[in-house]
Amino acid sequence: MTSIFPAPAQGPAAGPGEAAATELGGRVALVTGGGSGIGRACALALSRAGATVHVADRDAEAAKAVAEEAGGVAHIVDLADPAAIGALPAEADILINNAGLQHVAPLTEFPPERFELIQRVMVTAPFLLLRRTLPHMYAGGWGRVVNISSVHGLRASPYKSAYVTAKHALEGLSKVAALEGAPHGVTSNCVNPGYVRTPLVEGQIRDQAAAHGIGPNEVLADVLLARSPVKRLLEAAEVAAAVLWLCGPNSGFITGSSLPLDGGWTAC
Ligand code: NAD
Repeated sequence: MTSIFPAPAQGPAAGPGEAAATELGGRVALVTGGGSGIGRACALALSRAGATVHVADRDAEAAKAVAEEAGGVAHIVDLADPAAIGALPAEADILINNAGLQHVAPLTEFPPERFELIQRVMVTAPFLLLRRTLPHMYAGGWGRVVNISSVHGLRASPYKSAYVTAKHALEGLSKVAALEGAPHGVTSNCVNPGYVRTPLVEGQIRDQAAAHGIGPNEVLADVLLARSPVKRLLEAAEVAAAVLWLCGPNSGFITGSSLPLDGGWTAC
């Protein structure tokens, strides 16, 4: 019997393991901060799944290297500059808001200009990129927005006021995009990693070791992983696999959600 509620149009289902190379064939993806760490892993995973990938980063060499590896296009932009957003492609079907930075200091000593910079890169730029790319996604009736949030979008830690504020704001922005995008076939979700083995975290381990006068292994066990029941760093490729799944053919009903990849941190 034919259903009175027809199933939505879908691409071919992925097999187990690596995404089928055609899964995102014909799709265009824009990955911010794609030159390093999680962004690089996302750019490569999306490209392996068949998407044409635009890598936006302020680090020219890194952006070009990843774009070459992904067979995509590099864009050298400082996302702290709202005017730079206009240089990025509007015709993206997939937007990965990933670029970010950290600054660790008590509230009483936190430099206001650093706080403001972090909001510009991690909140205002994602907002402006949504404004820029959503019309194309709406016109095509399909789009995927994945915001690389953090456990710190769901939980706070001391000395990270700017970062925790920005990630909580990104969570709200992602949910509004989910509500507005739903009638247009556009989903918007956050992923919420715990500590991932990337240059950003390796820098934090070095800084914390110097600040506490302890070794890097102790920083890892006693500071970074103190609240994580799973006692290891997450790998960037594991984050990219979750992002790819959210962009794939079986995730059209998942929107406005936040997916913790946190080794059980938020279960505590
Ligand atoms: P990373 O430092 O390895 O990479 C960040 C990239 O963003 C770099 O290539 C950098 O050049 C780029 N970038 C920073 N500011 C920019 C700007 N103004 N304009 C253009 N590009 C800019 O960091 P990562 O660990 O891969 O982090 C990526 C994202 O994942 C961030 O949003 C971060 O908050 C989030 N995250 C990271 C972790 C972790 O443990 N590493 C955990 C949770 C969430």
